[in-house]
Amino acid sequence: MGVRDDAEAIAPELVGLRRAIHREPEIGLDLPGTQRKVLAALDGLPLEISLGTALSSVTAVLRGEGAAALGRNAKGGPVVLLRGDMDALPVAERTGLDYASQIEGAMHACGHDLHTAMLAGAARLLAARQRELPGMVVFMFQPGEEGHAGARHMIAEGVLDAAGQRPAAAYALHVASADWPAGVISTRPGPMLAAAEVLAVTVHGHGGHGSEPYHAADPIPAACEMVTALQTLVTRKFDVFDPVVITVGSFHAGTTDNVIPDDATFLATVRSFSPGARDKVRESALALVGGIASAHGLTVSAEFRDGYPVTVNDEAETRFAAGVAADLLGEECCVAQLNPMTGAEDFSFVLEQVPGAFLMLGACPPGADPATAPNNHAPDAVFDDSVLADGAALYAELALQRLALS
Ligand SMILES: [Zn+2]
Ligand SMILES: [Zn+2]
Repeated sequence: MGVRDDAEAIAPELVGLRRAIHREPEIGLDLPGTQRKVLAALDGLPLEISLGTALSSVTAVLRGEGAAALGRNAKGGPVVLLRGDMDALPVAERTGLDYASQIEGAMHACGHDLHTAMLAGAARLLAARQRELPGMVVFMFQPGEEGHAGARHMIAEGVLDAAGQRPAAAYALHVASADWPAGVISTRPGPMLAAAEVLAVTVHGHGGHGSEPYHAADPIPAACEMVTALQTLVTRKFDVFDPVVITVGSFHAGTTDNVIPDDATFLATVRSFSPGARDKVRESALALVGGIASAHGLTVSAEFRDGYPVTVNDEAETRFAAGVAADLLGEECCVAQLNPMTGAEDFSFVLEQVPGAFLMLGACPPGADPATAPNNHAPDAVFDDSVLADGAALYAELALQRLALS
């Protein structure tokens, strides 16, 4: 039987695992209950399992026996890494599903429960093919994707070297509750998702009486100038076809009308779609706020807080992965994505070191219109279980075919 049939045969178990994880969502880097469920799902499989220390990650290595048989590589052949993230969001669920979250204020609103179940399914499918598997597979079960840079922590703890040699390729799937019909794969070579960072600025002046600003050093007008100048920076310094978004979403200063405060602070989210634009916006935004502050005789503390880099899909790996998806699921289920998405992903940290591809998988429920269905992160976002078997089969097929290529 083929991988897709085998995946179909374990679909009920994948649905059970997905729903169990959905009922008990956990947020951030520490997901002990989810980790337990993953370990139970992997129990009995011929995997080398290691657990994270700074986070509740699960790294599982499957050593295929097919490479030695081919006489290709005495160390066990090439390595492919498959990643599934496992964390939920601080969202109060409003789906009304019978398997809805039982944890107040937490919900799998980004579908990571499906990723976890699909990756566990892929481990089952590939373990059953251990004898002919021409290489090794690293299964990366990752906490803390939603703003906690879990992938960076797992890299620091050695996930990229878990099999004893670097992966030749890395793949991740991400479900979407809207935008695509269920079962449709969408990806693009090059930038796939934005870089997202926080620009934090504090303008330092000297407080005083509002009636005598010349005896004080007022930080508010300078901070206001910075906000508008950042918008001008976007339009005058950046290629319109390599865009940058700067949005000041928080601005705070002062206590009342007639007191000049010491400080004014603001926070901006900064999005960019190429490593070059990311470097340039970091440098030019800091120079801009520094210049405006000094023009007014003030000082400023400004920094870019750790964010996620651009998720860049490798050209060849993306072509390969799209081809595998089209063979497995049918040409009609594979669409080219015209533009990158404005969200961000910490799989970007993996793709900075390993060529690979990030693929979207439509999971819009039947009967809902992908154009209007609630999007990922919405409290009423619904991800359809019917894609679990295909997702698991695609993960497995990507590894099988990529290892056969190497
Ligand atoms: Zn998300
Ligand atoms: Zn996500």
